[in-house]
Amino acid sequence: MARSLFPPARRVKVLLPLPLAGSYDYGVPPGMDPLPGSFVEVPLGGRAVAGVVWDGEPDPGDVPESKLKDIAGILPAPPLPDASRRFVERVAAYTLAAPGSVLRMAMSAPKALEPASLRTVYTAADPPPEDIRWTAARRRVMDFAAQGPALPAADLAREAGVTPGVIRGMADAGALLPLRLPDTESFDDPDWERPGPELSDSQHAAATELCEAVRAREFSVTLLDGVTGSGKTEVYFEAVAAALAAGRPVLVLLPEIALSAQWLERFEDRFGTRPAEWHSDLPPGTRRRTWKAVAEGRVKVMVGARSALHLPFPELGLIVVDEEHDGSFKQEEGVIYHARDMAVLRAQVCDCPIVLASATPSLETVTNADAGRYRRLRLTERHGVAKLPSIDVIDLRKTPPPRQRWISPPLQDALEETLARGEQALLFLNRRGYAPLTLCRTCGHRIECPTCDAWLVEHRFGRRLECHHCGFAMKTPDHCPECQDTDSLVACGPGVERLHEEALAILPDARIEVVTSDTLQGPLAAAAFVDRMASGEVNLVIGTQIVAKGYHFPLLTLVGVIDADLGLAGGDLRAAERTFQLLSQVAGRAGRAGHAGRVMLQTANPGATVLQAIATGDRDGFYAAEASMREEHGWPPYGRLAALIVSGEDEGQVERTAGDLARAAPRADGLRVLGPAAPPLALLRGRYRRRLLLKTGRDISLQRVLTDWLSRVKPPNAVRIQVDIDPYSFM
Ligand code: ADP
Ligand code: ZN
Repeated sequence: MARSLFPPARRVKVLLPLPLAGSYDYGVPPGMDPLPGSFVEVPLGGRAVAGVVWDGEPDPGDVPESKLKDIAGILPAPPLPDASRRFVERVAAYTLAAPGSVLRMAMSAPKALEPASLRTVYTAADPPPEDIRWTAARRRVMDFAAQGPALPAADLAREAGVTPGVIRGMADAGALLPLRLPDTESFDDPDWERPGPELSDSQHAAATELCEAVRAREFSVTLLDGVTGSGKTEVYFEAVAAALAAGRPVLVLLPEIALSAQWLERFEDRFGTRPAEWHSDLPPGTRRRTWKAVAEGRVKVMVGARSALHLPFPELGLIVVDEEHDGSFKQEEGVIYHARDMAVLRAQVCDCPIVLASATPSLETVTNADAGRYRRLRLTERHGVAKLPSIDVIDLRKTPPPRQRWISPPLQDALEETLARGEQALLFLNRRGYAPLTLCRTCGHRIECPTCDAWLVEHRFGRRLECHHCGFAMKTPDHCPECQDTDSLVACGPGVERLHEEALAILPDARIEVVTSDTLQGPLAAAAFVDRMASGEVNLVIGTQIVAKGYHFPLLTLVGVIDADLGLAGGDLRAAERTFQLLSQVAGRAGRAGHAGRVMLQTANPGATVLQAIATGDRDGFYAAEASMREEHGWPPYGRLAALIVSGEDEGQVERTAGDLARAAPRADGLRVLGPAAPPLALLRGRYRRRLLLKTGRDISLQRVLTDWLSRVKPPNAVRIQVDIDPYSFM
């Protein structure tokens, strides 16, 4: 064989943010010097794609020299840090997702990889021109522009809730002035030297331990276990200050960041500036600039939803996961992962401490603390004069509400008294809309989603029926779609809208606000709601779980839980635990300042263990009972669990694939395969579904067993098998 005149091109591995089995090799043209982590543009099937130069030696046997394509260019962004690359690999290995799919979560602002350009932003003219015609929309823009940072037209329109046309009109009229600025964002450094509040002895002791963990600069996990209102936030703020003092950045994960208006305010009070934020509601420009600022090491404190975990931090000095037990940390689509667990992995990779904070920690975390794998710090009292609320269980069989009503007489009395005292109340019902089911009185037909195994939920305010699983919506019909009878459709059961109707009828003094994910979209809406509570404009909140968490309203003294049995109905392995957590969180909203709080739980089953545990405040007893039940049956955290979800549009194909999986199932001591079974949502978004569960002992590598199992089954192209390690949803 003739030897080439030129030495073979240098080649490197490039991982692309696509669901491919692994990295691809590319050639490095002369003069180019990519490093591991460099963001590069490469050709792929006629397109240009951005990817990351990956570690490790490429294998010249994979692609012949003649077929090797060259990297087109290095993109102007700092290389993806080593820790981020290791994290991508570890998450992929744990979840069995394609590494490229995990990388995609780290490359969540592709535009940030392009060269920074100039952009036009607007500020308010001061004073504004005299001849301008003022509309409500224009005033809102002006108020926002006068207080907030200079923003591009689209962002300003979005923040002020107006159309872009309004901004253009105001710029033409000279009320808004354009500025050309480089398209970057600078974040003020939080001032860690500002004094925090004086801590109580127990708070101080906890804070000292956390600060020591931060100074140790090594991996450790601490459970900060404190009752609602005990000052967990103040305590971990001390650890944040310690990390900043050491010059190391901090990542705080919160569930449903949109609701954290109060958290952001507290942070600003403590550190003199707002932290950087990351969540799905960020305007695209902010998203791009924030990503870039993180990559360039200019963000000192980031608070975000679970997706913030994948940002390219060059280093981390501390990770905090607040409300660590919260279900929204589990991502159920795309790469299926639990952000709390992956945050622990992230801390390991970055060799930094992590704090898991909660008043009702997950059984997983409690077990790790009991076994000594995690450190545990406890705060057992509310701060200051605030006391934990008193809890009454209301037996709906003894004191039922009138027909077609849901507020029992004792709860109604308590509501009247509370509002008469000038205090505030919360009615909790975890059901959006007006009624969960619409039924025809004539033929018995129940209106269902056309593409899911689910009833359509009536939203009377919006005059439509909606599927809460796929988003399908239709106008509320005036006759039965089955028998065509008119005036025969009846709403069954309550949702928050229906409760609103009832409260209006029986509480003339109530100033009510219904708060759900439908009404509270985005941080601004959340902040406005907090203001209405603080000013007393609202004195009765009717809400879903969206109001159960985190909020601190000093005058809120009564919490009524309309249906304490609701969460237990599904009966999956964590139903009791989740109900305990949710009800404890809701109860924790009552009496957070000097006024005594009261919680009333309406139930048809007052003897239920969960309710008794909450009523008597016997959290540890509840956890112990729950733990021994799980241990006896080998359920998590005492055993390991993974789900395989088979789905497709052809039910027969789905059945056959599920059957193939069952026949190929691993057989060995210490592991069991359950199913295939049709889950409650056996049809979702037009896809039929079957589920198998793999249950093993703790000492077995679930991932290895699954990989081997899946390699033995080849599903048809139209059938998908999703792997869910540590499943939380069994729907
Ligand atoms: P948790 O996070 O445990 O629910 P928070 O940190 O929200 O508790 O504290 C509850 C309330 O008590 C907050 O308004 C907080 O500012 C206040 N608080 C807690 N600790 C202190 C302290 N040492 N000094 C002053 N206020 C405190
Ligand atoms: Zn649907």
